[in-house]
Amino acid sequence: VRQVIAVDMGGTNIRAARVDATGVILARHTVPTPASASVEIGLDALTEAISAVRDGSEDAAAIACPGPLDTVRGTLVSPPQLPAWRDVPLERLLEERLLLPTHIINHASAAALGEWTFGAGRGTAHMVYIIAGTGIGGGAVAHGTLIEGRAGMALEFGHTCLDPHGPICGCGLLGCVEAYSAGAGITRRAHEAIARGEGAGITEAAAGEAITGESVARAARTGDAAAVQIIATAGEMLGVGVANLLHLFDTEKVVIGGGMTRMGPRYWEPFMIAIARHTLLPYAGVPIVFSELGDNAGLLGAASRALILRSDALHTSNAMP
Ligand SMILES: [Zn+2]
Repeated sequence: VRQVIAVDMGGTNIRAARVDATGVILARHTVPTPASASVEIGLDALTEAISAVRDGSEDAAAIACPGPLDTVRGTLVSPPQLPAWRDVPLERLLEERLLLPTHIINHASAAALGEWTFGAGRGTAHMVYIIAGTGIGGGAVAHGTLIEGRAGMALEFGHTCLDPHGPICGCGLLGCVEAYSAGAGITRRAHEAIARGEGAGITEAAAGEAITGESVARAARTGDAAAVQIIATAGEMLGVGVANLLHLFDTEKVVIGGGMTRMGPRYWEPFMIAIARHTLLPYAGVPIVFSELGDNAGLLGAASRALILRSDALHTSNAMP
């Protein structure tokens, strides 16, 4: 059975694994991401994590990376989590170090590919995947192929617009799905409510700590009116966004991962009501399910991407302009 190296490179941790063709993780190693350090130190950390899981039998590697990136050139463009990494040809630099064909893939696309190959999307030809946590991302498989777009940036669902006059998003645009439905957006709405003199229950739930999506959800469970409204709107707006995706993709299944899956009915009931209210009849029965792989979706998606690479496919052309 073939084995490959899979890496999930986040702003906090670099998680490396050796994975077989059936998606079984045979070895894993995690190191902290030296997020504010130089590219050279970052590459050393990546190499360290990968070396700890190698046994010589693997024939390809893939790295799930934060965007924006360019999968055609194999380059990390300007990930906000890694300020020193600007136009870094990560595929070529890692191939030189690992002597393995290496591919990069954006995080949300990797998680989509992982769920489709080994998780909740198994057996479908058409699947849409959403990850909703601090931010919101997406991925899609159509006709049995991951849609990556021109350079790996397809399905940037979190920054699609639901209201051109809506609240400002962390990206600078107005009315993005992420500005309503992700942890950061929920937190911003909570601070606005408190500034208006509402949301006493939110302050109480945060208990002196920074307000998070979770503390707003806790305040909603105790019945704080502002918190209830913020969580319900967050769920409703995600539902509107997913209804849009149903119309665009005519998919077989929607899979949802990320921390928001733990928000409970105050988020997910308005979500389902919005889906019903904003979806044409032909899409009404499409199953919407939570992720099966949880935190391993990105790692196993990277494994799936590496399994598609062949051992003779060292792509030195990445060094070309
Ligand atoms: Zn945005």
